[in-house]
Amino acid sequence: MGERVVIVGGGAGGTILANSLDPKRFDVTVLASSPVHLFQPALLYVAFTGAHPRATRDEHRLLRRHVRFVQDAATKVDLTDKVVTTSSGARFGYDAIVVATGMAPDPSQIPGLAEVDARFGDYHTDLAQAEKLWSSLQAFNGGTIAVGQASPIVKCPPSPLEGAFLAEELVTRRGLREKTRMVFFTPYPRAYPSAPMNEVVEPIMRARGIEIMEFFDVDRIEPETRTIRSIEGDEIVYDLPIVIPPFVGADITYEPCDVVNEDRFLITDKETLQIKGVDRAFAIGDGSNLPTSKAGVGAHLEAKAVATALAGRPVRFTGRTHCPFDVGYGRGTFVIGSYDAPVVKARPSRVKRLMKMAFEWIYWISLSGVIEPVFTVYFKLTAPKPAPASGSVPDSSSSLT
Ligand SMILES: Cc1cc2nc3c(=O)[nH]c(=O)nc-3n(C[C@H](O)[C@H](O)[C@H](O)COP(=O)(O)OP(=O)(O)OC[C@H]3O[C@@H](n4cnc5c(N)ncnc54)[C@H](O)[C@@H]3O)c2cc1C
Repeated sequence: MGERVVIVGGGAGGTILANSLDPKRFDVTVLASSPVHLFQPALLYVAFTGAHPRATRDEHRLLRRHVRFVQDAATKVDLTDKVVTTSSGARFGYDAIVVATGMAPDPSQIPGLAEVDARFGDYHTDLAQAEKLWSSLQAFNGGTIAVGQASPIVKCPPSPLEGAFLAEELVTRRGLREKTRMVFFTPYPRAYPSAPMNEVVEPIMRARGIEIMEFFDVDRIEPETRTIRSIEGDEIVYDLPIVIPPFVGADITYEPCDVVNEDRFLITDKETLQIKGVDRAFAIGDGSNLPTSKAGVGAHLEAKAVATALAGRPVRFTGRTHCPFDVGYGRGTFVIGSYDAPVVKARPSRVKRLMKMAFEWIYWISLSGVIEPVFTVYFKLTAPKPAPASGSVPDSSSSLT
């Protein structure tokens, strides 16, 4: 029997990793709380264009035949005794473990947010919420649309701004632009966290009349007065609030307990992807605390790095990110950076938007690992240049993607 590898989580990262491991060397089990795999970027288009993409597939069909799939939620991961316990009471012993449990929305952190979410929907939770937001946008007839993130941690850093751009495009197409105030709020000091990308998007926002409220840390929402209040003392009175909830790591107890931070993200070595001080234990994707984008592309590259590490070869994850960014009206760009390279200032174009749209189709194939050589070449060709070694001040925000 090969080395027993348990992968907890069957999303973007867990699926690619499972399919990348050599069946001759590894006995692989994927344990996932959901039998369904959701292509999360589709939520954007469900919510803002009313699209009906085929956004979900059965997880077990995405896994290669040698991979054992178990639908069950992990409740405890004992990294000392090397046992995972699930909600059904099953126990899975392992030789190596990879945690790829993503992150979950937690509207309860902001008073009033759960009520607003339940009424208007959002585009980061699930398909039902995205469909609800589309209905809310359809019912909108003018007033103030407030779009933004309730905490600094978000899936796919361009996604808050994508929501603002697509909402603005939608109200324009519906002939409501004159009657609509568009406000984008963010806890960051600028519309996009990294300065080079901000230089690209902020002029577009100004040209489209989207107001920017920086340093806006959401404190609470008061549905009765339709007001979002910030810790800094600012407020937005809305007619349609589109609020991305805060996120936390999966609800799993760890032994030892100090491998997760206060928001339950796994404390992960940024280069080896090893869980803090634990041998043959790794974290990938949104559930880690890696200082890079929480994105499917990152989860993909981290999965490949862990596959290399498990195979016994040296690995150094570079923090590479490559997030597609829809700026509306058929144009898009990419946010490209790494730990060592500042974010590239990439201008939007129609071709880049088409590449983003093609990714939905490519995604399902990429999970199998068969087109990995194409990805390897693509990522090599588009690799960002490392920052100059000396004589210039590094842009600290670039690691924020
Ligand atoms: C609106 C939106 C737009 C986006 N756009 C892009 C984009 O353009 N490009 C991009 O790269 N990324 C994008 N993303 C982000 C991307 O979808 C996520 O970053 C990616 O899916 C993270 O992969 P993951 O494997 O870490 O987690 P997920 O894909 O979220 O998978 C988590 C898995 O863990 C399982 N799980 C959770 N808890 C447990 C438990 N206790 N026990 C067992 N299993 C558990 C879940 O069932 C699931 O199978 C977008 C996201 C959103 C919401």
